[in-house]
Amino acid sequence: MRPTFLEVNLNQLKQNLDAIRTHVASAKVLVVLKANAYGHGVEGVAPFLAPFADYIGVALVEEGINIRKMGIATPILVMGGTLPEQIPLFDEYQLTLAASSPALMSAAQQYAESKRTRLRVHLKIDTGMERVGVREYEAEMFLEQSLKCQSLEVEGIFTHFANSEASLESDSLQSDQMVKPYLQLERFAEVLSFYEKRSIPHPVLRHTANSGAVLNLPESYYDMVRPGVLLYGVYPARDIKKTIDVKPALKWKSHIAYSKITQPGRGVSYGSLWQAQSAARIVTIPCGYADGYFRRMTNQAQVIINGKKYPQVGRICMDQFMVNMGEDAAELGDEVTLFGEGITAEDFADWTGTNEYEVMTNISARVPRVFVR
Ligand SMILES: *Cc1c(COP(=O)(O)O)cnc(C)c1O
Repeated sequence: MRPTFLEVNLNQLKQNLDAIRTHVASAKVLVVLKANAYGHGVEGVAPFLAPFADYIGVALVEEGINIRKMGIATPILVMGGTLPEQIPLFDEYQLTLAASSPALMSAAQQYAESKRTRLRVHLKIDTGMERVGVREYEAEMFLEQSLKCQSLEVEGIFTHFANSEASLESDSLQSDQMVKPYLQLERFAEVLSFYEKRSIPHPVLRHTANSGAVLNLPESYYDMVRPGVLLYGVYPARDIKKTIDVKPALKWKSHIAYSKITQPGRGVSYGSLWQAQSAARIVTIPCGYADGYFRRMTNQAQVIINGKKYPQVGRICMDQFMVNMGEDAAELGDEVTLFGEGITAEDFADWTGTNEYEVMTNISARVPRVFVR
């Protein structure tokens, strides 16, 4: 196996899920497995977590198919935008469609009717994200239409928050442009009142809560919650109240592939952006930006070798980067920790100017995942 790999602690994921479950009490839990299970490796995470999940959430129909092909029977909601020509796949692989427009819903109805089958759908309401979904102010006709779609099983109705991770009592929500989660909840409740007014039952799965709302907004739980990043033990914002105790499950490891003493004044790597002031041990790690070790972390990142933190130096290359161990000794093959054991997704996010989500989902498929219990 490659000496650079990700170690994924499945038990930790289960503990995170259990902690979320306890917190949301009777609400069901949709486990979000999109984007290669937030970089953790869906091929290991999905089979392990599926027995404990009420629902699985993915962004793309292709991701849903991939999970079905593993032999997993748990219901799967494809949450992202879908094109009408992809509808047959929902039937073939028994996936739940996010019906996000009148046109998509009628295409699904027509397809299901022509095939004498039934498709399961969740109605997607846009209460303030302006992404996919029918806006709350035009939802009544949409719900009306759904009642007439005899070949659709309208199992759910949902919306997605734009700012649930902002801390509610603090100043971080003061921007006038920010749609507040309470406003989105109000709009969603208004849409749901359609069912009461008609005295007909609402779809059995009403859901809104992503990780921020799971932590912040008990009013948002309804029948099911949709935690993503929190399941992976990472909080969706730094200043959010950590009302649920979760821990990261990832370690990114490598091994020293080369070691040399670099003389003062010799530049290290492309662009010679870093020079040793005095003779220093420079070690090479066989991992680079093609693995998701962002080039933008050049001269900022740190790694752990033999229990001690050392600075990354010189341009991060596509497949390798260098570390300055100063006067310390090292052996070829010594273990290097790039992530975990005190180096967090937050650190990576700081070094790159991105968020923790992008850090995790960028770890490329070239890095083998090792699943441990
Ligand atoms: C990605 C996603 C989630 C999970 O978001 P987190 O912030 O990671 O919890 C929930 N719902 C939808 C619709 C999503 O696309």
